Amino acid sequence: MENEAGGSNVGIVVGKEKVLIVDSSLFPVKLSQIKDFVKKVINKPVEFVFVTHYHPDHSFGLDKYDFTRILSVETFQTLSSLNDKYLEDIKSRVGKEAATLKLPCLDNSITFSEEMEVELGKRTVRFHRLGGHTHDSSIAHVEDVGVLFAGDLLISTVHAEVVVDSDMDAWRKALDFMVGLNVSNVVPGHGKVAGKDALSFTKKYLDFVEEVSEALKTKKMVKIPTEFSKLRFPELLLDGLTDRLLAEFR
Ligand SMILES: [Zn+2]
Repeated sequence: MENEAGGSNVGIVVGKEKVLIVDSSLFPVKLSQIKDFVKKVINKPVEFVFVTHYHPDHSFGLDKYDFTRILSVETFQTLSSLNDKYLEDIKSRVGKEAATLKLPCLDNSITFSEEMEVELGKRTVRFHRLGGHTHDSSIAHVEDVGVLFAGDLLISTVHAEVVVDSDMDAWRKALDFMVGLNVSNVVPGHGKVAGKDALSFTKKYLDFVEEVSEALKTKKMVKIPTEFSKLRFPELLLDGLTDRLLAEFR
């Protein structure tokens, strides 16, 4: 179900023996509620939580819970390096729930550099670090059902965040890689679950993003193609592009 406020999606992958959660949301309380939900409805333990990338809305739910964290080496290192100043900055942008936020707990983590897989019991989940949206952006692929959790590398109904550390070439390559996977349903980091064509849609969107960022520099007008005019939260894109532009002048 799409988060009305544009919040991040959380996936639950159920195997015969174990359960894996994809992304932790921003809030430890929310992840705790999801764990309780899994216990009640699925009656199997949450063994693993995989984090697609370091952005707080995907990783800050990782409180001191007793599951194994699965992260790329880059995600692990970036999250380890965050300090209280970073946390305070995030808190200042969140409403009344800010007091519940903390830096993520990385105890009991398994890391991978390029790829890794885990067995949940008659279900294998494969992780690949691809970069693009951020240097550490990773995906989780559940091949037997053709489901791909693509994190913020993919858009369907919500604008992308193109941030200062986004690498547009790596992002395009990541999308090409995902096109080659056996996939019928793709889950973006934000917005609705979509079909495989959301991958080519995102690739076209990246071309549009380059056009907008060029226009910001040259003060040209850009007409928004109809296929992108219905995407929600355009401020996500504009804030990110403004930051990128400012970074160029620094
Ligand atoms: Zn992100």
